[in-house]
Amino acid sequence: MALLEHTDFGVTDKYMSQMMSKIMRIINITRYRIFIILAFLLAPSHVATALEVVSGHTTQGGMIIIKTDPDATLTVDDQPLMLSAEGLAVLGFHRDDTSAIHLHATYSDGGEAYLAVTPELRQFNEQRIDGLPNNMVTPPQAVLDRIARDRIEVSKARSVSSELTGWQQDFIWPTYGIITGIYGSRRILNGEPRAPHYGIDIAANTGTPVKAPADGVITMVDDLYFTGMTIIMDHGHGISSTFLHLDKVNVQLGETVKQGDNIGSVGSSGRSTGAHLDWRINWFDKRLDPALLAGPMPDR
Ligand SMILES: [Zn+2]
Repeated sequence: MALLEHTDFGVTDKYMSQMMSKIMRIINITRYRIFIILAFLLAPSHVATALEVVSGHTTQGGMIIIKTDPDATLTVDDQPLMLSAEGLAVLGFHRDDTSAIHLHATYSDGGEAYLAVTPELRQFNEQRIDGLPNNMVTPPQAVLDRIARDRIEVSKARSVSSELTGWQQDFIWPTYGIITGIYGSRRILNGEPRAPHYGIDIAANTGTPVKAPADGVITMVDDLYFTGMTIIMDHGHGISSTFLHLDKVNVQLGETVKQGDNIGSVGSSGRSTGAHLDWRINWFDKRLDPALLAGPMPDR
């Protein structure tokens, strides 16, 4: 219609040819769309073979959410992967993961779908911390047993596989402040290379409230050698949060918490050089980057 009106008013040939080529482009795009829809409708196996990444960060330290049919049986690298009632699953990439993970869905009608997801590689920086008491950097033999016990307890809490759905929420920052340590940094303590830093450090005054970044259940509360007063919270499907160096704890083992609930306060307990919250996210034993989940720190 618009085209006819222009013709009535005597538009130039050049204008007409521009218009025609625009219209042809639109038709071509539409054709392509129709083709995709047909290809989907004519897919020979299961009607909804879709097995796709619907959100998250396909990168080292990233968490991704996968969607498929709720009736599917899903595996990742041949290990079972839990599906929610809506057909959602979650997994994460460790700092040093470089190769693709392979997802495989089998549907109730015998249909199958495959998906390979390769994490993007990131650059990590180096963090030097000097002036730590030497017994914290290289603990004396007497405390090594305690550290070993701490590790077992932490890894037990992080191995919980529940049907909680907190991982589906948009995570919020548990506290606000200046970020003084980031995920993935290689650490050199008193000049000695150590494991990378897997948390995000938020400097805040002792006593500043720490809030639940998402719904969850408390799976560990303890005073540990390195991390001081520590809380671990299960968000479901292997996703957990860990809060380190706390001053006070307001929750108990087994307690259910809602996103935003006050669970404790910032402190400097354990191996810490000042009051800050060290917040960590895990997918089972894989360490994820909390900053990718919570996004930029808000101004408040
Ligand atoms: Zn830290």
